[in-house]
Amino acid sequence: MKYVTIMGVPFLHTDQASFVNLLVDRIDQQEKTYVVTANPEIVMKANEDAAFMQDILQANYIIADGIGVVKAAQILGNPLPGRVTGFDTTMELLKIANEKHYKLYLLGAKKETLEKTVANIARDYPGVEIVGSHDGYFNWEKNHIAETIAELKPDLVLVALGFPKQEKWIVENLSKFDHGVFIGIGGTFDIIAG
Ligand code: UDP
Repeated sequence: MKYVTIMGVPFLHTDQASFVNLLVDRIDQQEKTYVVTANPEIVMKANEDAAFMQDILQANYIIADGIGVVKAAQILGNPLPGRVTGFDTTMELLKIANEKHYKLYLLGAKKETLEKTVANIARDYPGVEIVGSHDGYFNWEKNHIAETIAELKPDLVLVALGFPKQEKWIVENLSKFDHGVFIGIGGTFDIIAG
């Protein structure tokens, strides 16, 4: 694996299609995987907040979610192949999940947005097995979301709490899971909900 480091953040040197293939291989091999989709705001925040930097550095892969990151890599003389966004990664994974009947769990967004997201995914990707979902406005200290996810054993967990919450949630709970791809995807449910 090749990386391009920008302001202390090591970005995976990959393109959108190769990255999705990599995640599919990891799902099929049952290898637990934590993905950070980092845009320039995330890189800036990580440089101001050491705890957040620690949370993102624990990811298996950090991808360049935004043209700003790709441009910065170019200026630094160590170019990246292109943008690899959380949104495109999500949509490509849903297509493959539909064919392979992956188990999906959705965490995040407002209740109404989440309900629309679940309905739209069920309509457009009927082969996906949606095993559960929870909105993103829960009591952080008192909930059983991670324990429920651990029992459901999803292949893919979309975490749409916005940064830095989504990365913090994944890092705090990752040890409870045996397998699955866990990816922080910001406002993606708002787009899927329409
Ligand atoms: N969100 C959430 N819980 C929170 C804060 C935000 O579920 O405590 C959701 C919010 O409803 C939205 C998504 O996170 O669907 C992304 O929020 P935002 O646009 O602020 O984050 P960004 O896309 O900049 O990461």
